[in-house]
Amino acid sequence: MDLGIEGKWALVCAASKGLGKSCAAALVAEGVNVVITARGSQALEATAEELQRSNPAVQVIAVVGDITTAAGRAAALSACPQVDILINNAGGPPPGDFRTWSRDQWIDALDANMLTPIELIKMLIDPMIERGFGRIVNITLGAVKAPIDILGLSNGARSGLTGFIAGLARQPAIASRNVTINNLLPGPFDTDRLKSTMKGAAAKSGQTVEVVTEARRKSNPSLRFGRPEEFGSMCAYLCSAHAGFYTGQNVLMDGGAFPGTF
Ligand code: NAP
Repeated sequence: MDLGIEGKWALVCAASKGLGKSCAAALVAEGVNVVITARGSQALEATAEELQRSNPAVQVIAVVGDITTAAGRAAALSACPQVDILINNAGGPPPGDFRTWSRDQWIDALDANMLTPIELIKMLIDPMIERGFGRIVNITLGAVKAPIDILGLSNGARSGLTGFIAGLARQPAIASRNVTINNLLPGPFDTDRLKSTMKGAAAKSGQTVEVVTEARRKSNPSLRFGRPEEFGSMCAYLCSAHAGFYTGQNVLMDGGAFPGTF
């Protein structure tokens, strides 16, 4: 299927690795020009080269910076001639016990996983409305739908974003102008972050990383972790010309782990 977005420009935040990278790769495969960001330059440059090799017909621009800062956002935006597609992403907050979290830790989580996406949307949505095309996808977390106790910082910050988006996406001034805003909720995907989570869980339980990883894998109805490219394909579809009537939704990709009917 031709997704109908060849030649568009996308800003894909936090995209040197993992889910952000897979979203950028899927968009590049559709002929979309991308600006990708990350804090570390080495992995970002390597990813930019890989994406460029995969489709020499598009432009791939790498911008080093922390997307949760005003300077990082300004650098990313100034590198992108126009943003037709915005993929909001950033690192997730650490797990823990809420009794130990300080106000500063809450502010960091809110900055990264709620206020940064809102700030970028605020800066980009009016030109999307004027052009009559815009696709915004926020990478959140399956725990927005089925909270995980130790991920309280993430549950809280991302649920705040989810509530905000639910009201924003349905505004006629936005939805009637072919500008869609959706959230993509990952369950366990095989990325560096998942590997480090497994390492942490192994250290805590006294079991080996292999044992903990295998148990986690088997606990999913699909008996496996998600592949980042599966996530990227879903993201690209949400950004496609065909998905203009699909907005304000929370798309859960978890291999069937969530046990509810809806
Ligand atoms: P990952 O493999 O660790 O990749 C994270 C990427 O984001 C890296 O490119 C990293 O590069 C970049 N990044 C992190 N913080 C950034 C910042 N402040 N500014 C710019 N770039 C930043 O992680 P992932 O698994 O793809 O996870 C992506 C998001 O999905 C996270 O919020 C995570 O909590 C969420 N999630 C993941 C899973 C999963 O199973 N993988 C499940 C649920 C939710 P630098 O470190 O160089 O900046």
